[in-house]
Amino acid sequence: MTKNNVIMIIGAGIGGLALALALQKRGRKVAVYERAPELGEVGAGVMLTPNSNRVLEHLGVLAEVEKGATSPGQTQVRHFETGAEMSTTDLGDAFKKRYGSPYYDVHRVHMHAALHQAVRANDSGCIHVAHDLIDLSQDAHGVRAMFANGAVAEGSLLVGCDGVRSVVKGNIGIDDAARFTGNLAWRGLLPIEALPPHQRGPAITIWTGPGRHFVEYTIKNGTMKNYVAIANHDTWTEEGWSTRAKVADPLHAFTGWHEDVRAIIAATPADGCIKWGLFDRDPLDWWSKGRVTLLGDAAHPMLPFMAQGAAMALEDAVILGRCLDIDTSVDDALARYERARLERTGWCQLQSREAGKLFQRIASRGELDGDRAERGRRLYAYDAVTVDI
Ligand SMILES: Cc1cc2nc3c(=O)[nH]c(=O)nc-3n(C[C@H](O)[C@H](O)[C@H](O)COP(=O)(O)OP(=O)(O)OC[C@H]3O[C@@H](n4cnc5c(N)ncnc54)[C@H](O)[C@@H]3O)c2cc1C
Repeated sequence: MTKNNVIMIIGAGIGGLALALALQKRGRKVAVYERAPELGEVGAGVMLTPNSNRVLEHLGVLAEVEKGATSPGQTQVRHFETGAEMSTTDLGDAFKKRYGSPYYDVHRVHMHAALHQAVRANDSGCIHVAHDLIDLSQDAHGVRAMFANGAVAEGSLLVGCDGVRSVVKGNIGIDDAARFTGNLAWRGLLPIEALPPHQRGPAITIWTGPGRHFVEYTIKNGTMKNYVAIANHDTWTEEGWSTRAKVADPLHAFTGWHEDVRAIIAATPADGCIKWGLFDRDPLDWWSKGRVTLLGDAAHPMLPFMAQGAAMALEDAVILGRCLDIDTSVDDALARYERARLERTGWCQLQSREAGKLFQRIASRGELDGDRAERGRRLYAYDAVTVDI
């Protein structure tokens, strides 16, 4: 195989683009290959906790992301029927001071655009859309990637940032069966004016009840309400984000819930509701082979209950960049990367499972407050830029 120093990145999601930027920042040449015919993200919100924002700042895109961000000020947990406040966490100035970085709610499309614009500003020709990876091979000198459009590319390292159903993961011999969790989720997005004034505030609200929970927050400078509604369901076969749903379905599933929850669902535009089944996988023991490794959801897909999937991908990106700087051999760098990331991301996968269970029963204030405190200690304080690796 030809020797060259290009690092091939498969997938231009949040993880792939963050890695491209992290590597470019270190003076490396990258080529990003994306299956979709054009770059894009789903129309939904994403919560950016301090550990994410620290990475975005390091990558030089936080200022752009902040232009469309909402500062939620606090998270409230509420009773599904009475609306009674069960736990409140401050996310304001004291929180920012404690963790050295803010908490934001943003639109995915805006964050994704900030990342790909920055990558293209560094190298206008490095992102190749309509490149669907179908196979790869490697030897001691490099990796060869084969795409459905007939293109072939070579590089010194290949990083699979190709999401939950990663082709790269399968290729290096990892077969992690996904289990349906018994939960179905609906996601909706609506203009804030569609809601009464008392429901237009920036706070994140988690409504918790038996077998169901509902998370709502605002994005796009507070002009849009984003929600995720999760309920037990018997069967589901599709793992994906894009199945359109009737607004009547979540409205039916949340019968008997507080009128504020039902008002949000009812105000969703007819074409603004998506549903998907939630699948779960166990943490991996390893995710690198030779000159190939994984990053983000490809390596450690997690349930969305702690809002950390994108955060873990962002952290991975910076850590992998740092490992490649420290070690001259690819083997050593990938071993260091795994050592630095396996425990944290595995913990996060398992903890996300537990968080889902916590929100689908009536937990005590002590349990809810304890969960929040643990997240602060283990998640938000982590600094991918400076942590020992
Ligand atoms: C309801 C919900 C809410 C969430 N909320 C949050 C949150 O608030 N905060 C947070 O941090 N995380 C959140 N997450 C998780 C987060 O969205 C994901 O973890 C994150 O987007 C993963 O990024 P990724 O780049 O690893 O994968 P993806 O975003 O899946 O990107 C993979 C990319 O690879 C491409 N691709 C796939 N196969 C190929 C191939 N063969 N060849 C070429 N390209 C390919 C895809 O087209 C895609 O562009 C949430 C997830 C869900 C489901």
